[in-house]
Amino acid sequence: MPKVKPAAAVTTPTAVINRRAAARLRHGHVWVYRSDLVSEPPAEPGSLVSVGDEQRNLVGTALYSSSSQIALRMISSGPVSAEAWLEMLRDRLGSAIAYRRRLLESAPDTTACRLVFSEADFLPGLIIDRYHDVLSMQVLAQAMDAPAVREVIAETLKEELCGRGGTGHRPVPHELSLVERIEPRIRELEQLPPRDTGAIFGEKTTTVYSLNGVKFHYDAAAGQKTGAFLDQRENYAAAERHARGDALDTFTYQGGFALHLARACNSVTAVDSSRPALEVADQNAALNQREVEWIEANVFDLLKDYASAGKQYDTVVLDPPAFAKSKKDLGSALRGYKELNLRALKMLRPGGVLVTCSCSYHVSEGEFLEMLQSAAADARRSPRVLEKRGQAQDHPVLLTVPETSYLKCLILQV
Ligand code: SAH
Repeated sequence: MPKVKPAAAVTTPTAVINRRAAARLRHGHVWVYRSDLVSEPPAEPGSLVSVGDEQRNLVGTALYSSSSQIALRMISSGPVSAEAWLEMLRDRLGSAIAYRRRLLESAPDTTACRLVFSEADFLPGLIIDRYHDVLSMQVLAQAMDAPAVREVIAETLKEELCGRGGTGHRPVPHELSLVERIEPRIRELEQLPPRDTGAIFGEKTTTVYSLNGVKFHYDAAAGQKTGAFLDQRENYAAAERHARGDALDTFTYQGGFALHLARACNSVTAVDSSRPALEVADQNAALNQREVEWIEANVFDLLKDYASAGKQYDTVVLDPPAFAKSKKDLGSALRGYKELNLRALKMLRPGGVLVTCSCSYHVSEGEFLEMLQSAAADARRSPRVLEKRGQAQDHPVLLTVPETSYLKCLILQV
C-alpha cells in the first residue's frame, strides 16, 4: 500500500503547483499564477481544490478559476470541505463586518465604508461596500459567483446588518438593500455569463451617505469603482486639516477632496474630465451648501494653461487614476506623475500645501518618493513632509500580500 499523504484524505481535486509557487505560498502569499500550475486540476470552474506541491504534499485549499491568470486563490493552509468552506465564508464575513463596526465607532459622521476587501479579509474575489443603507457588492472571481456562495453572502449580510444595533451609537436602517455591481469586462475575463447590475435584496439603489460629516449622493447603478473612492476617506480629513486659502482639487470625480477642502479654504476649484462625475459633484456641493467651481478639463492641459497664466494656490490636491496598470507602464506612469507634481509644486504660494496621491500598486512608495524628490528639485523647492499616508483602515493591508497595499498619499508643505 502506498503511504497516504494528507492530500489523499481530501475529496476535492488536486492542483499541483511548481516549486516557485509553493515557496510563495509558504511565505504567506495567497495566489498561484496559471503559469505555475504543473497541470490544470480536473475541477469545475470556481470550485474548491486541494493544492499540492510536486512531491504531492498538501499546501492548502484554494478557490479555482479556469480562466484567470490567477488560477488559485488560497483560502486555507489545510484541507477544507465544501460545507466547511461555506461555514468559513460566514465566519469571515462576520469578522470583516465586526472589524468595520469597531472602526466606524471612532469615525464621526461616517456612514459608508468598505465592509469586505477581498484577500485582505480572507475572502478572495469579493468586495462589499456599504453606502449608508445600500450595500454594493462586486464579484471578481468565479468561486464567489457560485449560487451557494451568493446565498450565504446575502443571508449573512442580512443577519449581521439588518435591524440590529449596528455600530452602537448610530441607528442601522432596517431596510437595507444589497446591489450587485457588474463590470462586464471582469465577468468576461472570468468567463462568467453576462449579468446586469441589480438588487439581490431590498429595493433601494440610491441614497445619501456621509464621510467625515460631508454628504454625498450615491447611485448603485452609476459611477466608477463601487461608486466612490472610500479608500481616501481618512486622507480627505487629513487634507482638510492642512488646507487653507485658495485650493485646487484635480481629478476630483464627485468632489471627495473638494468638498472637504471647502470647509477649510476661501475658494475651491475642482477639475475632472468626466462630465457625469462633475454633475454629481455639483449636486453634492448643493447638498452640503458649499460653493465649488467645477471645471471640465484634462488636468494636464489645465495645469499647463494655469502655469502660463501665472495662477497660484495655497493648497493643491493631485489624485489621478492609476497610471501604471501593469509593471510595464512604470516608466510612463512616473513621467505622468512627475509632470503633475512638478507643475503643482511650482504653483504653490510660499507655505502652500500639496496633497499628492498614487493608487498604482505598480508604483512603489519608494519610487513615488523618488519621483517627488526629482520634481521638487526641478521646481527648486524644498518641501517638508507633513504626513505620509496610505489607504483608509477599512481597506486593510495583508503584510504578506503586497498587492493589498496600493494607495500612497503624501502631504507636503513648501
Ligand atoms: N479624487 C477622487 C478620485 C479620483 S479618480 C475622489 O477622491 O473621489 C480619478 C478621476 O480622474 C476620475 O474621476 C476620472 O474621470 C478623472 N480623470 C482621468 N484622467 C483625467 C484627465 N486626464 N484629466 C482630468 N480628469 C481625469
